[in-house]
Amino acid sequence: MRTEVYIALGSNLNSPPRQVQRAISSLARLPETKLIHTAPWYRSRAIGPGKQADYINTVVSIATALTPRQLLRELQAIENQQGRKRVVRWGPRSIDLDILLFGKRTIKSKILTIPHPHLTRRNFVIYPLADIAPDLVLPDTTSVQKLLANTCAEGIVRLKAGETLGSTG
Ligand code: ADP
Ligand code: MG
Repeated sequence: MRTEVYIALGSNLNSPPRQVQRAISSLARLPETKLIHTAPWYRSRAIGPGKQADYINTVVSIATALTPRQLLRELQAIENQQGRKRVVRWGPRSIDLDILLFGKRTIKSKILTIPHPHLTRRNFVIYPLADIAPDLVLPDTTSVQKLLANTCAEGIVRLKAGETLGSTG
């Protein structure tokens, strides 16, 4: 059985658009996994220490037969392939891959929290998620539409297809 899973991607280092594109290609090649939807890309202002470059953020959905732990391991392998170094918490990163939702499951373990905490707090996650899954309902019955209604678009810009340059408005 395959589960519908939503993954958030973010990059603000080493040509972010290239990093995001490469990660999406790797996700599409994961074992027992099919890429379903890719959201438009957003440029967002960095949250975190010091002055950092803008991020490119997006969300994809996959259907996978992997378990949550297997998927986490695969995502970390992709992060490592793309030279992700964990230097400072919330510091710049070449690629960050977070599991937002894994079907209707709720998981709270040392290595995995699902739904991901960003899901209800970060506009750069909520907007692209709503683009590809406007009718989605979270395990706690909150709808994506409700999250969207409670979220402002401050600091994020939806990019047109092929557009990756410019500054955050
Ligand atoms: P962050 O994404 O919070 O900026 P990292 O990418 O460095 O930080 O991840 C730190 C840890 O978060 C990982 O080692 C992983 O075990 C854990 N983690 C917990 N829940 C999730 C999830 N839903 N998706 C991805 N990683 C998660
Ligand atoms: Mg992460």
